[in-house]
Amino acid sequence: MVVFAAVRRARSGALLLAALLATAPGRAQEAPPDPENLPVLVATGVGSFVVDAGAPLSLPWGETAAGTLVALSPVAARLGGHLEVGPLGQRWTVTIGDSEFLLAPASAAAIVGTEILPVSQPAQEREGDLLVPIDLLERLFGATLGVRFAWSDAEHRLTAVRPTSRELPVEADLVHLQGVSTLVLRFPERPRYRVRQEGTVYEIVLAGDRLVPPPARSRPRDPLVRSLDITPERVRIELEPGCAAESYTLAAPFRIVLDVFRRADAAGGEVGVDALAARSARAPGVRTVVIDPGHGGSETGAIGPAGTPEKELTLLISRSLAARLREELRVQAVLTREEDVDLGLDERSALANQYRADLFVSIHLNSSARGGGARGAETYILSLQASDQRAADAAALENYVGEGVADPGSEQFDLQLLLWDLAQSQHLAASQQLAALIQEELDRQLGLRDRGVKQAPFRVLMGAAMPAVLVELGFISSRDEEAQLREPAYRAELVEALVRAIARFKAGLEAGAGEAAR
Ligand SMILES: [Zn+2]
Repeated sequence: MVVFAAVRRARSGALLLAALLATAPGRAQEAPPDPENLPVLVATGVGSFVVDAGAPLSLPWGETAAGTLVALSPVAARLGGHLEVGPLGQRWTVTIGDSEFLLAPASAAAIVGTEILPVSQPAQEREGDLLVPIDLLERLFGATLGVRFAWSDAEHRLTAVRPTSRELPVEADLVHLQGVSTLVLRFPERPRYRVRQEGTVYEIVLAGDRLVPPPARSRPRDPLVRSLDITPERVRIELEPGCAAESYTLAAPFRIVLDVFRRADAAGGEVGVDALAARSARAPGVRTVVIDPGHGGSETGAIGPAGTPEKELTLLISRSLAARLREELRVQAVLTREEDVDLGLDERSALANQYRADLFVSIHLNSSARGGGARGAETYILSLQASDQRAADAAALENYVGEGVADPGSEQFDLQLLLWDLAQSQHLAASQQLAALIQEELDRQLGLRDRGVKQAPFRVLMGAAMPAVLVELGFISSRDEEAQLREPAYRAELVEALVRAIARFKAGLEAGAGEAAR
């Protein structure tokens, strides 16, 4: 019953996506968009820029049918921010404090982390600077620094007002899991701050705002964090010797997260920790594999005729795959979920990014809405367009995450599909290669003829900034395959096929690196 509802709903999502793709201005996997697709500048000039009623600065502007654009560099120079053009001018990065915004050409949106911020019109390159709409400035400097902007058409004048100080309560949580301590600082709204580090001391220093510290608490009992001290001006975290931290932010509510880990050289290469630290100057290879057991918690996934939920089998398979990868390939293998818990699709790839994984493998079991017939394994890579109807159905089914979580048919979801594709597009060739090896090994193991690699818009792969594949290890909707999948020996065979494929992929990368070094 649940599955039928999911299929029906998800189908309409796929149709909406197809409709959107037909009208999309430019697909992310293609060459940089044609500048002729940008709104035409009907007027340009040089106006002025005033901050907090100070002396006016000169500011180039432009006008399109969609509204006013102003030069970003003078604004960033005055308010604090750094502008960088990506390779081939395909993307611009704006860094404000420790926030990084990505502007894709001809795309009326900015990307920060995995968040998409739609704006009124695309930014345009002009004379080495970037002309941006005023609402993009609000997105960039409003969210990070609380600046408000106003534009006067008559005077061609941009006014910026910086906010007075706010008092922000902060809550702190510290947990230790899998060799990593995670400190989460939660704020009602985004404070203005910067992160400072010296040795094992990390400080989050407020700029303009003040913190309301939580009630006094006892010293943290944590193996990696020595002390945590919060004053109105700053949060000070001292780590144990030999430890280091990485910080990142999460939205809604705004959180600053610090992952604390023991440095590999100090820890003597303890599995589960060293890959977090070994992040700089990496030779090609496979050190960390993030394995994602599909579904979990209230999301059962597909349910077999005998009542086996997909989420249970994906967890069993993922656990043994992780164990075998550690044993056989000596790599760090991390599961996105260790237990039967809910986990969002976006959080899964976010976790892989956080671990700087070299590979992301999402494990699923297929179900055929058409019933009967379908059997065997299928390997998928991300594409905005499904390779066939079955691939489209599979993606629609896996993208479905239940009522009230995210609506796969919504416009916001479709926009995210288009933009997240950017993150995965540079790894598509490697994803394709890994998927081909996996499919080959599975076909051989299961005695099936070559099925080839399929493509579909799987949301779980979209944020992944590394080669990423989704494997449907069999049809749980088939009575026979469900019975087989319940057998540990059969599952072990599937796991060995995956291990062989990943070993071949790893060896290929390392051989390539060796050749390049010669
Ligand atoms: Zn699934």
